[in-house]
Amino acid sequence: MSKVQGLNKQFTEKDVNRMRNLIQGKHGEKVGQSVGYAKHDKDYKEGDVWEVDGRMWTIKEGIKQNITKLDKAKKAHIMPIFCPNCGSKMHTDLDKPYYNIHKKCFNCVVDFEFESRKAGLFEEYEKNIINSEIEGFIVNFKDYVESKLTESNNSFITEQGDVEKWDGGLDKKRVLENLNNTIEYLQKMKK
Ligand SMILES: [Zn+2]
Repeated sequence: MSKVQGLNKQFTEKDVNRMRNLIQGKHGEKVGQSVGYAKHDKDYKEGDVWEVDGRMWTIKEGIKQNITKLDKAKKAHIMPIFCPNCGSKMHTDLDKPYYNIHKKCFNCVVDFEFESRKAGLFEEYEKNIINSEIEGFIVNFKDYVESKLTESNNSFITEQGDVEKWDGGLDKKRVLENLNNTIEYLQKMKK
C-alpha cells in the first residue's frame, strides 16, 4: 500500500509515516524540529481500532476519533427487513422514516394511530412521541459534546497533509454553559 486514504495522492507512504512520526513526537535528527507532543504506548495508523477505558477509537483520514457513539447511533437507524410488529416486508422509501421513530412499518403506525384516535388517546400518544424525540436528541447531543471535551488528542493531519495542533483546547466552562442553555431550550419545546 503506497497511499493512505483521505490524504492527498501526492503523498507517498514515506511522507505519511514521517507526518505520523511527527505527530507522535518520534522526530528524528533529519526532521530537526520538535512538535513537543505525544507519548503513545502504541503506534496507530489509518483504520486501526483500539480501546482506551471502554471507549473505542480509530484514525480516519488522519484524525483520531471516538467511534463507539457513532456506531451506536448508526445501528439505531438500521431498518430490519421485516416489520417487528406485523412481520410484513418493509420498504426503504415508505417505511424507513416511520421505522426510525416508531420502530414499526408505515401500516402499523397508521393502524396504531387510528386505534389511538378512536380510543381518544391520540393526543397523549403524539405528545409522548414528540417528547421522546426531544429527549433522544438531548441525550445524543450531550454525548457528542462531552466526548468532544474528553478527546485528548488535539492534533491531526489536514487534507493537505499539514500537521495541525492546538494547545489549550476548548473552553470547557463555556462549552458546558452553552450545552446547558441548549438543553434548557429543548426541554421547553416539550409538550
Ligand atoms: Zn408492520
